[in-house]
Amino acid sequence: MLLIPLGTAAATSSADEGTSAYCVEDAGVMIGLDAGDSVLRSLLQSGRSARLDALCITHGHPDHLSGCMALFRHWSVNQTEGAPPIPVYAPAPVLEQLRLVLRALDLEASGVVDLRPADARHSVTVKHLTVRPFDVAHDAPHAVGFRITTPIRPGTVDMARLRALGVSPGPHVGALKRGQPLTLPNGTVIHPADVVGPSQRGWSMAYTGDTEPASDIIESVRAVDLLLHDSTYAATDTALARHHHHSTATEAGQVAAAANAAQLLLTHVSHRYNAAERESLLNDARSVFAGVVDLAVSHSVWSIPHGQWIHNARGPQAAMATDYPVSHPSLLGLRAR
Ligand SMILES: [Zn+2]
Repeated sequence: MLLIPLGTAAATSSADEGTSAYCVEDAGVMIGLDAGDSVLRSLLQSGRSARLDALCITHGHPDHLSGCMALFRHWSVNQTEGAPPIPVYAPAPVLEQLRLVLRALDLEASGVVDLRPADARHSVTVKHLTVRPFDVAHDAPHAVGFRITTPIRPGTVDMARLRALGVSPGPHVGALKRGQPLTLPNGTVIHPADVVGPSQRGWSMAYTGDTEPASDIIESVRAVDLLLHDSTYAATDTALARHHHHSTATEAGQVAAAANAAQLLLTHVSHRYNAAERESLLNDARSVFAGVVDLAVSHSVWSIPHGQWIHNARGPQAAMATDYPVSHPSLLGLRAR
């Protein structure tokens, strides 16, 4: 499971960063989280297709959806015959804004996108991924964050051991994987535990969008592997954070600690802070959270299983962890650039 920041700036773009947009990628499935100014271009620059499997919008502020017009236009121009519409999940008031975008593009009846409500009572599935919206505390009606999880994967079958037991490959291997015992013609029973390795854990990430810290959010993101949290302000500007319904980096760290998250990426940092002050936001978060902490930055790729950048636009590329499949499309895309 990878997180690819496509824009991390607060309020408006800078020369280096577009406004809020991210992509979560797992086994070739891509889910967009918010669609700020540079979402389309950043996606294409990452070497990926811009045809997402789903797009999730947290709230209706322009810095989180201004790139929708570019995305919808791109999807329309590149629409292939018979391709299903791309689901776009957003709070009900945002769906109204997106209908206006479709009308402006004359795409209302095009079948390019399927606008669907996102609310905290309903999880949705996108291919093998589960997406659960959760309520946040921001000054936009029905603002939500999203938690995305991969399923637990069954363990691999020890084929050599299976053959030694006199079983040839076939459909019964899948049944063993699903936990069903296999009875051989001679009456011998092979139990899954005899030949199937341990199941592999699922992974999870949560994106708060814009929010103040809130106890409900701690429950919604509990035990998540990666928390991508609003960190608009430094601790010294907590009053501004309250006034504008955002969080400080310290508060992001407190939420991560209380929720027992493993990794925290700070994002949506105010333009008021220079590079050195942005780095000091990391210290704010680290003063209250003992897990992995870094600043989200575009044109980089964060591996959630490894808890580190596998490509970091801010510095030299991290050594590629050996247990990550090198055939993964994300890595091939990086090498192609
Ligand atoms: Zn906002």
